[in-house]
Amino acid sequence: MNRILSCTCAAGALLLSLAAIFEAQSSSHIEKRSWGTFDGKQVFLYTLRNASGTQVTITNYGGTITTIKTADRNKQFADIVLGFDSLDGYTSKTSTGYFGAIIGRYANRLAHGMFTLDGKQYQIPKNEGANTLHGGNRGFDKRVWDSRPTGSETPTLQLHYLSPDGEEGFPGNLNVTVEYSLDNKNNLRVDYTATTDKDTVLNLTNHSYFNLAGAGSGTILNHKLTLAADRFTPIDSTLIPTGAIDSVAGTPLDFRQATPIGARIGDSYEQLTLAKGYDHNFVINKNGQSLALAAKVEEPNSGRVLEVLTTQPGVQFYSGNFLNGKTQGIGGPFNYRSALALETQHFPDSPNHPNFPSTVLHPGQTFHETTVYRFSVE
Ligand code: BGC
Repeated sequence: MNRILSCTCAAGALLLSLAAIFEAQSSSHIEKRSWGTFDGKQVFLYTLRNASGTQVTITNYGGTITTIKTADRNKQFADIVLGFDSLDGYTSKTSTGYFGAIIGRYANRLAHGMFTLDGKQYQIPKNEGANTLHGGNRGFDKRVWDSRPTGSETPTLQLHYLSPDGEEGFPGNLNVTVEYSLDNKNNLRVDYTATTDKDTVLNLTNHSYFNLAGAGSGTILNHKLTLAADRFTPIDSTLIPTGAIDSVAGTPLDFRQATPIGARIGDSYEQLTLAKGYDHNFVINKNGQSLALAAKVEEPNSGRVLEVLTTQPGVQFYSGNFLNGKTQGIGGPFNYRSALALETQHFPDSPNHPNFPSTVLHPGQTFHETTVYRFSVE
């Protein structure tokens, strides 16, 4: 708001200052408050607010989005993600859902927790049966990130984490920066940047769970989903990709036209049975665009719409099949299929599938990916 106010008449000056006060109150800003400590480090909660009243709260514990409050078509605000109102909710051993967190160093699965890089085999702790999910025992979601608000016009939170060489078995000191910003058009933008000093593998995402009717208001089965994906990566019984890249045509995974999530979720189709619902990586149709629309979700009662755009090649659509009501969060228990995740990502287990886009990062290269969550009403 770099505006020079000048006026000679007193009434004009009064009007101008009233306008300035109003603009300051309604305009976008970021607030910071203490939220406890973890690992001897201070944890904060930041609230990013824009001119239309949309609010996003983020903690530097795990770089986690804890709430997103958006308006419905009647201008009623509700929190549309699953989260907790205290740090304990996230640090508790029983919180295993990665709610809202940044996932790394390798988001999604690595078969047998293993991969080979430059002829050397690396072993990451197995935390899901025989495999590794979301970075091992203590991934980026369980780390305290350095944090600082930046950006004067668009509220922006910059987070930084140095993942040391050998952490969870991954090679190379990895410097990761994640920037969250909320503009006045209701775009929540997430920019991921990373550099390394040794060859490593990297796959970063955010693991927010959405219910556009409001957290705690039932299942997501009536949400209409569109996925800009002609193909997906089929999985085996442990949810590891087989290595194939198949067409969605003629299957319940075809969301190229807007379809309620519940319409085919119970079909006797092997891929759905294996995953107990939707839990698949879709190959985003890029059509030559780097930041391409991956998904659109519409909730008919509230009118809320979420569009997800990304530079990443894939998106994991997960229909909350492992939520079981045992975890209690802000909107109540996190019930079966009460929220969905759209995790923009590189394909799961890419280091073990040479036909998938590479996830190797070399020293001297800069990893950069962007995802935009766009909120609107219809
Ligand atoms: C996985 C799910 C898992 C969820 C929470 C998703 O990325 O694909 O299988 O239950 O994360 O861990």
